[in-house]
Amino acid sequence: RLILGIESSCDDSCASIVSSRREVLSSVVTKQDHSSTNGIHPLHAALNHNANLPKTIVEAFNQAGLHYADVDAVAVTRGPGMASSLGVGLTCAKTFSSLFAKPLIYVHHMQAHALTPLLTEKTGPSFPFLTLLVSGGHTMLVLAKGINEFSILATTGDDSIGDAFDKVARDLEIPWTSAPGSALEATARGYQESMGSNHPIPKSTFPVPMKGRPAFSYSGLKSSVSRHIESKGGPGNLSASQRSKIAFDFQSTAISQLEDKVTMALKIDRQEAKPFFKPPPAGTEGERLQVWRDRQEFRQKLGDASKIKSLVCSGGVASNSFLRSRLRKCLDEMGRQDVVLMFPPPSLCTDNAAMIAFTGHLLWDQRTFDHDRHARPKWSLQDL
Ligand code: ATP
Ligand code: FE
Repeated sequence: RLILGIESSCDDSCASIVSSRREVLSSVVTKQDHSSTNGIHPLHAALNHNANLPKTIVEAFNQAGLHYADVDAVAVTRGPGMASSLGVGLTCAKTFSSLFAKPLIYVHHMQAHALTPLLTEKTGPSFPFLTLLVSGGHTMLVLAKGINEFSILATTGDDSIGDAFDKVARDLEIPWTSAPGSALEATARGYQESMGSNHPIPKSTFPVPMKGRPAFSYSGLKSSVSRHIESKGGPGNLSASQRSKIAFDFQSTAISQLEDKVTMALKIDRQEAKPFFKPPPAGTEGERLQVWRDRQEFRQKLGDASKIKSLVCSGGVASNSFLRSRLRKCLDEMGRQDVVLMFPPPSLCTDNAAMIAFTGHLLWDQRTFDHDRHARPKWSLQDL
C-alpha cells in the first residue's frame, strides 16, 4: 500500500510517498526564505506554500517514479500550526482526493513527530516510550502510550531550546549560519577541548531554571547570558576563550534542564527520586502547593517508569553531540542502562511529509471521504 503525505503546518512545503513496508520512496522539502521579514510572517508563508506545494507534490511523484493514481490514500497535516499555511496543504490534499477518488487521512503534526521512530528505527521502540522533542519550535517531553495515546509530561512556558541557542549565538556574534545552534556548539567545543575529555563538567555561570518542576523555560536563561555578555562590555570585548566559555556554559545549562526532566521521569528508585517530589523549600504556601500538585500530576501521567525502555530524542537540537553524550551519561548514572537512547536522522526529525504519510499508514482505519474538515491550528496532542 502507498500513501502520499502532505505537510504545510509551518513554513516548509513537504510531500512524500511512503509504502506500508516503511519504505520512504520520496521525501521532498521546499524551504522558504524569510530573511527579508526577519522571521516567519503567516501571510508570506501561506503565499509561498501556494507557489511551492503543487510542484513539491509533483516532484515527490517524479522522485518515486509513480503515477498519481498509484497511491492508495493521501495523508495531510490538519494541525497544529499556522491556519493559513495548513489551509494550503488541506486544499491540495482534498483536491487530490477528489480528482483521483482516494481517501483522506487527517494527521496531527506532533503525533507524526512522536511516531517517527517507528518509521526510522529498525526495531522501533515499543510502547510506552519517552520522546524528548527539542527544536526551534518545541521543547517537550512526551510519553507515547499507543498510536493515539500521548501524555505531555513537560513543555516550555516561554521560548524553545532551539530559540535560545539561536539567540545566544547572535548575542555572541557568532557568524550566522542556517543552524546557529550548531555554530554555537562548535564555539563551545573550544572550551571543552581545552579542559580535556576526562575533566568533570565545571559548574555553570548560569542557574538552571525549573529544577525539579515538570516544565521547561528558556527565556530566563537567554536573558542571563545576554546580561553576562553586557557585563563584560559587550561581545566585541570578549576574547576567544571567554566567548567559548560562555557558549559552553550556556549549552551545558540548557542541556541540564533536559537532564532534569529525564531524571524526574526515569529514575525508578523512589528514595533517590524523593527530592523531586518534596514540596520546594522556597515560595509562598500557594506556590509550594502548586509545585507539589504539578509533580504529583507528572508522576500520575507517567505511570510505572520501569516499563519505559526507550528514550527518543528528536528535533534540530538533537544533532548536538554534547547533548547526545550527556543524555547517555545521565541514563547510565541513574542506573537506567536498560533504556535505549534513539536519535532518528535529522532529515526525518525536522518538518517533513514522510512522517505524515507513515502516520497515515498507522491510521489507515481512520481514512475518510469527508472533505468538510477544516484546519485545527490549536490542537493538543492529548486530544486526538
Ligand atoms: P519545529 O519543527 O519545532 O516547528 P524548527 O523547524 O525551527 O521547529 P528544527 O529545524 O527541528 O526546528 O530545529 C532548528 C533548531 O535546531 C535551530 O534553533 C537550530 O539552531 C538548532 N540546532 C541545529 N543544530 C544544532 C546543534 N548542533 N546544537 C544545538 N542546536 C542546534
Ligand atoms: Fe514540526
